[in-house]
Amino acid sequence: MKAVQYRAIGADPEVVDIPAPEPGPGQILLKVTAAGVCHSDIAVMSLPAERIAFPLPLTLGHEGAGVVAGLGSGVFGVTVGDAVVVYGPWGCGVCPICASGRENYCPHARTLGIHPPGLGSPGAMAEYMLVDDVRHLVPIGGLDPVATVPLTDAGLTPYHAIRRALPKLVPGSTAVVIGTGGLGHLAIQLLRVLTPARVIALDVSEDKLRLARSVGAHEALPSDENAAPRVRELTDGHGAQAVFDFVGIDLTGRMAADMAGMDSDIQLVGIGGGTVPVGFAQVPYGASVTAPYWGGRTELAEVVALAQDDVLSVHTETFGIDEAPLAYERLHAGNITGRAVILPHG
Ligand code: NAD
Ligand code: ZN
Ligand code: ZN
Repeated sequence: MKAVQYRAIGADPEVVDIPAPEPGPGQILLKVTAAGVCHSDIAVMSLPAERIAFPLPLTLGHEGAGVVAGLGSGVFGVTVGDAVVVYGPWGCGVCPICASGRENYCPHARTLGIHPPGLGSPGAMAEYMLVDDVRHLVPIGGLDPVATVPLTDAGLTPYHAIRRALPKLVPGSTAVVIGTGGLGHLAIQLLRVLTPARVIALDVSEDKLRLARSVGAHEALPSDENAAPRVRELTDGHGAQAVFDFVGIDLTGRMAADMAGMDSDIQLVGIGGGTVPVGFAQVPYGASVTAPYWGGRTELAEVVALAQDDVLSVHTETFGIDEAPLAYERLHAGNITGRAVILPHG
């Protein structure tokens, strides 16, 4: 089968032919219908060898949708032909954290050598993929896999971040979304659906700002030195109650702290390597700064339920599997609006 692999440190992703996998005990074989292209893959592919915690080559794709094509022994709960998406941040499954659905924070995954598909285990950018356990599948029924696959990360990650900030996002509050790409354009919509907050979006690209407005941002502003003063102005000098940074470089982290109000939530979701120095008078009084990771299993089911209610408009651009390296190039250059999605079967 064809697969898109990261094969050597610093190399570009490559389309290769590899044997199709067979499901072992407990495993599910999916015929992949769609695989999303996340900016995190580009960050992973630029890491030095000593910071990569898994062997290469790696089949990419940590956003996966598919149809059940085969069941290993002992698998119950799904049948061949079911349409599903894959919950990616695999944990051990048995610790109290995993039992509560928060496998993204499983303290044992790393030591047990459990890796998400596409980030250590073979991922979704292939004609077929294996899922390690039925609990990592969320049925999607008749939803379009192309529009649904980004929800597994580009939807789930902001959903998880926003849920953490919900107590702050009361009527009259303001939330800022920095970076309105794959994750950001869904963050805006999730904020509109889940909260009464006014939503201000920031980006460096006029195309992305247009997208931000079209999906419900009340304000969409250039992300420059005027952004923090503008947010302060729009909030009567108080600053925003929550700032979600989907870029995560020093510059945007600094901006986030400059536009946040007292007792606010600042969440660095982007993995651009930036930091926000925390200390007295370095961030607004009482502000909390966190760097959340992906989301929980039950949260993915909730995001899919929102899609079933038809309240999310996921913007996608599709590519055949042979064009996957081009999709990464375009994403790297900032030329994807919404999410790029690979169709392994054309
Ligand atoms: P993307 O490329 O689709 O979107 C990034 C957006 O940021 C683009 O619209 C770009 O124009 C904009 N941008 C770039 N520089 C900017 C700046 N200075 N100010 C404002 N906007 C700017 O990427 P994505 O796939 O949506 O991922 C966003 C970030 O989130 C990446 O860093 C990714 O690695 C990270 N991520 C983190 C998690 C997590 O669990 N923490 C999960 C998924 C993705
Ligand atoms: Zn991702
Ligand atoms: Zn666990």
